[in-house]
Amino acid sequence: MEKRGKVVRNTGAHYIVDSQDGTAPVSCKVKGNFRLKGIRTTNPVAVGDRVRAINTGTDDTWLITEVEPRTNYIIRRASNLSKESHIIAANISQAALVVTLTNPTTSTTFIDRFLATASAYNVRTLLVINKVDLLDEEGLELLDAVTYLYGSIGYEVIHISAKRGDGMERLRELLRGGVTLLSGNSGVGKSTIINDLVPDAEARTADISASHLQGMHTTTFSQMYDFDVDGVRSYLIDTPGIRGFGTIEFDRHHVAHYFPEIFKESAGCRFDDCTHTHEPGCAVLRALDEQRIARSRYASYLSILEDTECGESSGHAANKYRKPQ
Ligand code: GDP
Ligand code: ZN
Repeated sequence: MEKRGKVVRNTGAHYIVDSQDGTAPVSCKVKGNFRLKGIRTTNPVAVGDRVRAINTGTDDTWLITEVEPRTNYIIRRASNLSKESHIIAANISQAALVVTLTNPTTSTTFIDRFLATASAYNVRTLLVINKVDLLDEEGLELLDAVTYLYGSIGYEVIHISAKRGDGMERLRELLRGGVTLLSGNSGVGKSTIINDLVPDAEARTADISASHLQGMHTTTFSQMYDFDVDGVRSYLIDTPGIRGFGTIEFDRHHVAHYFPEIFKESAGCRFDDCTHTHEPGCAVLRALDEQRIARSRYASYLSILEDTECGESSGHAANKYRKPQ
């Protein structure tokens, strides 16, 4: 027997493959080696992978024999010292970054670093501002400013209150038909959102926690939820314990590429290799002066640039992203 389906869960020992044809998901092991070229990974198969699995007929054991080429994947090093990487998710169509302006306050540096990294992976990000029910007058002014800032750069920004239900219809629309990586700091309301969108999510989570307790490392654990939006199957990937995409090594001269408004201004810089820090004739510094680039964005740019100072980076971030073939 043969099945084709999506890997919806990695329990550590098994991969759960759902073929979405009405039959129950099956538990699979991996046959052979599916190594990515040039990267050592701890998991050859990841949540989101489309695979072929076969059943030998003698028992319930299914074997994954083939992984379809990925449109993209998110990878992080298994640990700081490790040369091995872990694939967090594959074939994602967008990221939804959940942030809050209060209880807790998400820092703009965190937002900007996330956006830049997602962009390096060629993953579009939707900015979801949650807990708007908690905002007082001053908070609402901040909400306006943040929405204007990211909106003018080109990001889609929505306001929700997962608790009250405000904005959830719009969110569902934006998730419709896609495979969305749900991210954000702890406490911003990701679980509340999942529970609202995915009716039986809690039961499913309990399920995983049980298998999770059987000695699995937290970072190896991501879960894909499917839910229906107007009859269209849609997916959320939740990666508890992983805050963003992990760190990737940016090439010093490419950091600006991932800040659209800075990149745009940089066309006017006198020097092609301008880092926009001190150079004469820098159009970015001029734009900063004239308040066409936000201080907070520029500070985030600098913070990533500083990371690249310790040692030459090994390569361009986009090298780790594979374009569809
Ligand atoms: P997670 O850590 O991102 O999964 O966050 P949770 O979903 O666990 O939410 C953290 C806390 O924020 C919980 O006490 C939620 O009830 C609360 N919360 C989530 N969304 C909202 C919201 O829209 N408004 C308010 N006031 N509280 C919320
Ligand atoms: Zn410059």
